[in-house]
Amino acid sequence: MKVEAEIVAVGNEILLGDILDTNSHWLCGQLTGMGIAVRRVCQVEDDPDVIAEVVRSALRRGVDIVITTGGLGPTMDDVTLEALAQALDRELYIHPVALEWVKEKYEELAAKGYVDSPSMTSTREKMARLPSGADPLRNEVGAAPAVLVECDGRIVVSLPGVPEELKDIFMRSVHPALAALTKGGTYLEWRATIDCGDESVLAPLLAAVNEEWPGVYIKSRARRFGPDVKFLVTLSAVGDERSRVESLLKSAWQDLQETLAKEGIGVLDITRG
Ligand code: ATP
Repeated sequence: MKVEAEIVAVGNEILLGDILDTNSHWLCGQLTGMGIAVRRVCQVEDDPDVIAEVVRSALRRGVDIVITTGGLGPTMDDVTLEALAQALDRELYIHPVALEWVKEKYEELAAKGYVDSPSMTSTREKMARLPSGADPLRNEVGAAPAVLVECDGRIVVSLPGVPEELKDIFMRSVHPALAALTKGGTYLEWRATIDCGDESVLAPLLAAVNEEWPGVYIKSRARRFGPDVKFLVTLSAVGDERSRVESLLKSAWQDLQETLAKEGIGVLDITRG
């Protein structure tokens, strides 16, 4: 079974062009590497109705995993958890464990002199207000806990926007949870440099091989025209067992080599990853 995911990057700063959405880029790489197919990435403003609608529509499309990034902090415009509760039709409530973590974090920050007071204000408390049934994920880098909710066999995860926090929580807590879902799925990508500078010549040859091997995604990476141009062609596949994925790629690669050779096109190198 192919496990599918969508990502929702939340933040006005992204839509204003102030920051680049590197979180989605990084998550796409992580999920793909786990054998999870990322179907869509949406970038949306800090509006609870808009966020709730994209999360709801992702679940309606039937994906197994929805990951949101950003909007978990203490400020008024951090509305992701409110939106998540709305999307899943659940109440928000103060989660005791999340509250304890936020308290501990502010005590630590106050002890270091980074904030004036360790006391829990309503804005700090807001970071522990989770949709009912959600699990908090500890944030070792920042203050706001991340959130994981299971919903009819699907998983919705909300991660903070700060990239260091997002990566740390993903590797510690989300990766193991998703790995259980994919049961160790494997994604492999082979990269070959092809001695051909014209993608319009290459395209029908790749399409013909792709038709023979529908489980393999074959793609040429176009850059520019010129006598020195060599095309990078990638072959990738995903599956439950590494040996099966490898043998699928091997067969498709052999077919591609033969097809290219018939047209007098050589292969300069290949990296099997
Ligand atoms: P915190 O809990 O630390 O306040 P947050 O979840 O509220 O985090 P945001 O307020 O949405 O996160 O974003 C905080 C900062 O993280 C942004 O100012 C930006 O620098 C960075 N950031 C947010 N989203 C992204 C993204 N998609 N890609 C890269 N950086 C991002």
